[in-house]
Amino acid sequence: MIDLRSDTVTRPTPAMRAAMAKADVGDDVFGEDPTVIALEERMAALFGHEAGLFCASGTMTNQIALNVHTRPGDEVICDEGAHIYRYEGGGLMANSGCSVKFVPADRGRFTAAQAEEAIGNAADVHQARTRVVSIENTSNRGGGSVWDLDQVQGIRNVCDRHGLALHMDGARLFNAMAVDGRTPLDWGRPFDSISICLSKGLGAPVGSVLVGPKDFIGLARRVRKRFGGGMRQAGILAAAGLHALDHHVARLADDHARAKRLEEALLTLPYVAGVMPVRTNIVILTLAADRPVDAFLEALRERGILAVRFGPRMVRMVTHLDVDDAAIATVIDTLGLLARHG
Ligand SMILES: *Cc1c(COP(=O)(O)O)cnc(C)c1O
Repeated sequence: MIDLRSDTVTRPTPAMRAAMAKADVGDDVFGEDPTVIALEERMAALFGHEAGLFCASGTMTNQIALNVHTRPGDEVICDEGAHIYRYEGGGLMANSGCSVKFVPADRGRFTAAQAEEAIGNAADVHQARTRVVSIENTSNRGGGSVWDLDQVQGIRNVCDRHGLALHMDGARLFNAMAVDGRTPLDWGRPFDSISICLSKGLGAPVGSVLVGPKDFIGLARRVRKRFGGGMRQAGILAAAGLHALDHHVARLADDHARAKRLEEALLTLPYVAGVMPVRTNIVILTLAADRPVDAFLEALRERGILAVRFGPRMVRMVTHLDVDDAAIATVIDTLGLLARHG
């Protein structure tokens, strides 16, 4: 099977497994796992933040960060397609008692003026207290769209004026940096907290790191324990993350080139009504009105290709470590066959 459902489906490479097998470990809840500590320190230093926290998932790093930034009854500003709202099981509401305020967005990205417009009036007791602005880079529902750092700096200024925290769901931040030419230090600067996934494009089996100020991460460590996320000899997993940082960052450009090839092929097909402009590893296409999504996905599946439904007429395909040039060529051939034979 060529699995384009998500970049989470990658399996650890033999070299990554070897790194995991020989990792030094200890009890991380006692703060004694050297490999976890090394990963947390490395990620924090990379983004110019004081401290890091290794967690089981990107959902967990987001949920912990938002929990620490807020009190029950507070409000979080985000795009309506944001993972923190749409794909975390209602966690923001259940774990932190927060509501959300959506900002009109261009494929997941909004401006400083739009963010400012969404902020509640803190002096009006009718309104929820706005506490956090959260952005997602790259934006998943935006088709892997990449934020502009200057635009984010404008949002930072708005947050400063209104005393708000700025959080980034950077599940695919390394994908963004592979195309925008910015460094981790550049991206680290405007944010109070950043969540970075190791198990997406970077190809580790498990894990995400939250970075932020020392006091913030101290509180986050307590919340992680409360959420049941204190892990013991987690260095085995952290070793996969360290290996990914060493070996799987530069290659993200290959995933992006393959996604681009897929986009070009899709645009030539009569049954494809459109494709969101591809910048990173996510390809979101809209099928023609007479081409039902479920039948299309089934036809692909019968030919050994997996993708996911992403809306009434939309399909998502994601390139990753386990999809090579030959696989993309097969996908493109198969898409062409489906044009001829339905
Ligand atoms: C995958 C993803 C996450 C985290 O998901 P987990 O499966 O919990 O690791 C967070 N944000 C975005 C945008 C994602 O795509």
